[in-house]
Amino acid sequence: MNEPVRAVLRGAKPYATADVGAAVDLSDNTSLWGPPPAAVDALRALDASAFARYPAIPPAELYRALADYAGVSTDMIVAGCGSDDLIDGAMRTFAEPGSTIAFSTPTFSMVPAFAAINGLRAHAVPFRTDLDLDIDRLLEPRPSIVYLCSPNNPTASAAPLATIERVLDETPGVVILDEAYGEFTAAPGFGLLARHPRLVVLRTLSKAFGLAGLRIGYAVLDAALVPALETVRGPYKVNAAAVAAATAALTAGRDWVQARAAEAAGIRVRLAERLAAVGFSPLPSAANFLCVPCANAAAVAARVRDRGFALRVLRDLPPITPALAASRGAALRIAVGPWPVMARLLDELEPEAAACA
Ligand SMILES: *Cc1c(COP(=O)(O)O)cnc(C)c1O
Repeated sequence: MNEPVRAVLRGAKPYATADVGAAVDLSDNTSLWGPPPAAVDALRALDASAFARYPAIPPAELYRALADYAGVSTDMIVAGCGSDDLIDGAMRTFAEPGSTIAFSTPTFSMVPAFAAINGLRAHAVPFRTDLDLDIDRLLEPRPSIVYLCSPNNPTASAAPLATIERVLDETPGVVILDEAYGEFTAAPGFGLLARHPRLVVLRTLSKAFGLAGLRIGYAVLDAALVPALETVRGPYKVNAAAVAAATAALTAGRDWVQARAAEAAGIRVRLAERLAAVGFSPLPSAANFLCVPCANAAAVAARVRDRGFALRVLRDLPPITPALAASRGAALRIAVGPWPVMARLLDELEPEAAACA
């Protein structure tokens, strides 16, 4: 039955999100503050009769807004159907099938998945015990691509700037720096582009910008590399409604988004302190979520879900910190939302500290 399917796809299971079955979904790090009001206004103002036509390519007003946000010229922008689209596209643009992509593990689950589909060899190197990258091991096979995720999903840790710069200086290949959570910390990616022509910075409107449902992400890279990535990504991957909402979010909505991101960054500290006070050991976070090692993560998540909160259960993480070794690689990933929501979550989670130990 599977015979016409490429070998790497036989028995493939499409990504599916189970119905989280809970009133408050803290399982996917999307914004609990909702979309920016300016984006909602822009969507309401759309003339739906225009949807009979294809959107303009490139979407000039969106590319101007993204370039202004990133502090670069418009010829350095490539938008796509979520940054997933651009991770996939960058692999097909910068790595021949059979060549190597290096990344630290654990990291974003779509990276090994797209690597396999694209016929790349995955060189997965565990983070060091201090959650920094093991650069020598990462670069050892001279990979075509190094994928760095900072802040990293699912550990929430950010790579030190000196580490990112060392990778950029020492690798002969392309560096994909995924800053999906860059708004929640002082992410350095955009500022590194001028000195590093093989750097591809990826960002998304799915997290801090509250527009995950519209599927829009973007790459910022050397203008000389843009035509190849645009060609691989293909035309019309960003739809007209997403263009309008994202442009408004980046312009009229920008201050609102930045204020919510700053609020989330403050709340993550407060949430981590409260969890630590009752015996949890959350990893340090630079993102809008916490990674909380928990030996009985699945059972705890099931109980908390019954009380209205969906958390992500992580399994088989490498034992990179003492807390992850003690939990045998099991953890809960918890998105940070407005404090009243977090206060109610704490009421349900604090009694579970013993079950996590
Ligand atoms: C959520 C996330 C993305 C964003 O994916 P989209 O396709 O833009 O929704 C990218 N990278 C990481 C690490 C993420 O966690």
